[in-house]
Amino acid sequence: MINHARLVTIEDYEKYVGPENVDRILRKAKPLQDLHVVNVNSTYYGGGVAELLGSMTILMNSVGIKTGWRVIQGSPDFFSITKKMHNALQGGEINLTERKKEIYEAVVYENVMRTHLEHDVVIIHDPQPLPMIDHYRKRGPWIWRGHVDMSSPNPELWDYLAPFVEKYDAAIFSIKEYAQKLKTPQLFFMPAIDPFSIKNHPLTEEEMTERLEHYHIPTDLPLVVQVSRFDIWKDPKGVVEAFKIARQEVDCTLVLLGNVATDDPEGPEIYESLLECQEERIIILSVQDTALVNALQTRAAVVLQKSLREGFGLTVSEAMWKGTPVIGGNVGGIRYQIEDGVNGFLVNTVEEAAARIVQLVKDEALQKRLGEAARETVRQKFLLSRNLEQYLDLFSSFETNFTLKGM
Ligand code: UDP
Repeated sequence: MINHARLVTIEDYEKYVGPENVDRILRKAKPLQDLHVVNVNSTYYGGGVAELLGSMTILMNSVGIKTGWRVIQGSPDFFSITKKMHNALQGGEINLTERKKEIYEAVVYENVMRTHLEHDVVIIHDPQPLPMIDHYRKRGPWIWRGHVDMSSPNPELWDYLAPFVEKYDAAIFSIKEYAQKLKTPQLFFMPAIDPFSIKNHPLTEEEMTERLEHYHIPTDLPLVVQVSRFDIWKDPKGVVEAFKIARQEVDCTLVLLGNVATDDPEGPEIYESLLECQEERIIILSVQDTALVNALQTRAAVVLQKSLREGFGLTVSEAMWKGTPVIGGNVGGIRYQIEDGVNGFLVNTVEEAAARIVQLVKDEALQKRLGEAARETVRQKFLLSRNLEQYLDLFSSFETNFTLKGM
């Protein structure tokens, strides 16, 4: 029989964050027992939001908060529109026609019809389900959690979306640079990782070797790795270019591992366009294999996350937790995760990325020093127990009329 009791609980975090932190979290959860919370997003796998929700909903339940997770459905044209919105929120262009708005709002309304939300707290993630708030009688606070890089949202799109956000009782962004001009109170919670998940728990050498061999990934040379959805903002072409420059000086193998989320229709095309870059030492893989992500992030000499925009890079924290130095794009949330030269490197260009690859591949002592600092950073700041505590604080700050104390 399966031992269901083995689900992660907050007490498991004691070994990483200490008993005081766990006791404080449990104390904060006590007055919130049986609070009924629901999260709504638009994909059950692929991408950081699904990753976060998978672990956070279990952890919240473990402290006595009844936390659910609903996923909205949509036609391909709905997801094509919402992906354009995602891109435009990160600063891209959008041709925002009435027809697009109609499809967006109509599909959201269909989801409203089949999603009965009578919870004490409703948390809506990202733009896809944002307009749901128009159609419910509120029984408690509604929170909008925007996960994307909001440093320079397309003004036309934001003018259209902001009135929906203003119907919420609070908006959460990943870092304070994403604050917008809004009537709604804004909070800033950086995402975090689950150290006990298959993606992040320690694997044995045999388990890692088995995964790498399964995909014919050679381990005779140092591995340079990027794990990301196939998305232009992750700059996969820039990663290949940086690798090609670096390879003129050091021998290594590049693995670009990506997956495609159900709410991201652009992925397959970007993956196809990368295939022409494949060579003996440039491996492009599109598979959904969590243990492979873990093995690659652990075994890599260096992990890249050369994003051009990044709300917050879970992949960055995942690799850092494994003691692997990360070269990250000097953008968005990554700037809060990596302290340049201390626990990894921040880069602005392909050439800078190439130079850091060369430096790290050549210098194992540097890999080790940055990697150790990286793991410690994640232990202190980016484990899910911290994110849970922020939610508990938020839930207890709502007054009976759903406004936030002191705001
Ligand atoms: N991921 C994965 N397999 C892949 C690519 C990505 O499991 O092939 C996971 C990755 O490990 C991370 C999440 O998807 O947990 C991506 O989150 P991140 O915040 O880095 O980026 P997002 O996709 O949300 O923009």
